[in-house]
Amino acid sequence: MRKKIDVLISIDVDPAPSLNLEDGVRQSVNLLGKYGIKATFFFVANHTSPNMMRLVQEHGHEVGCHGLNHDDQEELHQLSYTKQEKMLSEATILLEKLSGNKIKSFRSPRLKINSDTLQILEKLGYQTDSSLSAQRLDFFSSNLINLKWLIMNRLPYHPDMKKIWKKGSLKILEIPVTAFILPFISTTLRIFGLTFFKIFFWFLYWEAYFTKKPIVYLFHPHEFLYNYTMKFSWELFIPNKSWLIKGAPFRRLFARQLLGPEVYALHDRFFCWLSSKNVHFKTMSEYQLQISLPF
Ligand SMILES: [Zn+2]
Repeated sequence: MRKKIDVLISIDVDPAPSLNLEDGVRQSVNLLGKYGIKATFFFVANHTSPNMMRLVQEHGHEVGCHGLNHDDQEELHQLSYTKQEKMLSEATILLEKLSGNKIKSFRSPRLKINSDTLQILEKLGYQTDSSLSAQRLDFFSSNLINLKWLIMNRLPYHPDMKKIWKKGSLKILEIPVTAFILPFISTTLRIFGLTFFKIFFWFLYWEAYFTKKPIVYLFHPHEFLYNYTMKFSWELFIPNKSWLIKGAPFRRLFARQLLGPEVYALHDRFFCWLSSKNVHFKTMSEYQLQISLPF
């Protein structure tokens, strides 16, 4: 029998002020439950509720941290060590209080970190970070500047203290979000459709088969709640400073053509197909624990 590939499904619970985020979390939990998938939900500390947390924990998923506010000020890679430490400590304390558990896994808002971030996370007791994305070529997102992603390790690794895209002596395990030119995330699924995404998966599957690399997928609960599609406008193409924080808005023209229930149905079909394959679904902590055990 062929060996199983580790698949880590991760859910970034981004703030969505005009939508019922709790409903989005409930739908995510139901969908994962339908296929017996255990996953990691990354919560933004100031945009969560005891109900959301309970839903996730009752179904055996892991609670991770996705920052304090996830707003335009929380550009972690731009902030001083002291400011980052204050934000990350506050977020961790809040989430540990709400969940009643130690928080061990982190994903940065908009995937932006620097070496200070990882050192602070390690000090706060985190065991995994999943904020980098190896070989992702992002022309229009706010990570355009992140050319280090192109040369970094594809396999999970312990980063260097200063050059975090290289292997080093930090204890925290970096588990990159899977990408190969395109990111293996819901936006790609929505733009290119399920057939393309299945082919993409098989390519990643064979890589994982030979290298023992996990496949990390990412989606957001608010995607199941979209109640309008995006209309074309020339204004979307006029560059301004916010592109550096939020990315170029016109890229969403391609991704925002499906309403919430359609995005849910697409994920339903994807997870149904995925769960019939030779894969093992794990949370970030389960994966970390497994690879730190001596063979
Ligand atoms: Zn996010």
